[in-house]
Amino acid sequence: MRQTTMLNAYTPGAGKLSPQDQALADRRARLLGPAYRLFYETPVHPIRGEGVWLHDADGTAYLDCYNNVASVGHCHPRVVEALAKQAATLATHTRYLHEAILDYAERLLALFPPELCHVMFTCTGSEANDLALRIARAATGGTGVIVTDNAYHGVTLATAEMSMSIGPAVAPGPTVFPIPAPCAANYPQGIAQGFAQAVGAACDKMQAQGIRPALLIVDTIFSSDGVYPDPAGFLAPAAAAVRARGGLFLADEVQPGFGRTGSHFWGFQRHGITPDMVSMGKPMGNGYPLAGLVLKPEIVAEFGARARYFNTFGGNAVAAAVGLAVLDVIRDENLQQNAASVGAAFAEGLRSLAQRHEALGETRAAGLFLGQTILTDGRPDPARTARLVNALRENRILISSTGSLGDSLKIRPPLPFGLSNVDQVLSTLDRLLPTL
Ligand code: PMP
Repeated sequence: MRQTTMLNAYTPGAGKLSPQDQALADRRARLLGPAYRLFYETPVHPIRGEGVWLHDADGTAYLDCYNNVASVGHCHPRVVEALAKQAATLATHTRYLHEAILDYAERLLALFPPELCHVMFTCTGSEANDLALRIARAATGGTGVIVTDNAYHGVTLATAEMSMSIGPAVAPGPTVFPIPAPCAANYPQGIAQGFAQAVGAACDKMQAQGIRPALLIVDTIFSSDGVYPDPAGFLAPAAAAVRARGGLFLADEVQPGFGRTGSHFWGFQRHGITPDMVSMGKPMGNGYPLAGLVLKPEIVAEFGARARYFNTFGGNAVAAAVGLAVLDVIRDENLQQNAASVGAAFAEGLRSLAQRHEALGETRAAGLFLGQTILTDGRPDPARTARLVNALRENRILISSTGSLGDSLKIRPPLPFGLSNVDQVLSTLDRLLPTL
């Protein structure tokens, strides 16, 4: 994200915006200030979403290959109906008795291994990770956190200091110890072994500074590090390594959760492990701010005895209705299975296209979460990746890039993505690649 932000973002004055959109971009800068970024050299201005499509005011349809918030499809009618119905009936919080949040908690927890049997609700993934850190500190007595070195875990003070991908202005917090992302280039001795060794070394380093380990937190698909799903199982020794040193293991499922990886509902399941805590967000409410933390009861016992927890909007009745509708849609529309089959076809299509285009390097994929390295003369090329992302946008395909260098496409479409959508992306790439 560090590089991606700079290479892909709109630079004021540089785009080919219509006069109306230029006025909107200027107004935005004036009102929202300097920290916001717009995607693409020429930003997109959608006014309506449906399924895998975003439409602008001129009626142009853009194929969305990037949105894992509207994961069951933009403005899914069943989710919208559940939201509207509950909002029109009652919108209270968790300080009153209400069935909806418990019905939802039961449905959600049934998707986890039985040891993970409490859930606490928040509105954002950042809050879920922040809460996890507080709980881990109480449970372990430690404060040290291990993260990957281009991770993203949130916007609160604590989670931003665990998110080196935000930009060079963010230094790791004094109790945060980044380790290299789990790819073959960083761990030539083997990813599973190397990553676990890095966790052990980070524990050594923090202990040398008098800091005790509290938490290893990873996005189980490593989306901002570059998308690293394989080899499945490689996380198990790393989780064991932090536990051996008294710390906990947190799977951040904000990106891969809710069926996206196809073979499993959660990213951690590909690794054959049961985390101590699991944070989730984005796709959980399909656009409604719904997030949470699932955890083992013994982990939260100490925290619960010493602190009360109340999140005004987290777990409100509308959120519960929305969450239930999202789970219903994933089940009834077989979206996890769709992610598996369409994702496999997508990865296969990219690999066969790579035989004809030297720019296509490694394809990394789990279901509908794909990373595609872009090369020039055999070397990863962030500038070419950025040109491709912008050229795809000009061809009405919305995508972005990832990795600490920004040298890979990040492909993460809504889960109803179909084979015809895959064909559209592949044929557009086939046409564009020789021109870049
Ligand atoms: N964790 C990961 C892996 C994320 O990708 C994000 C959001 N991009 C977050 C946490 C934070 O979630 P939110 O934006 O809902 O606070």
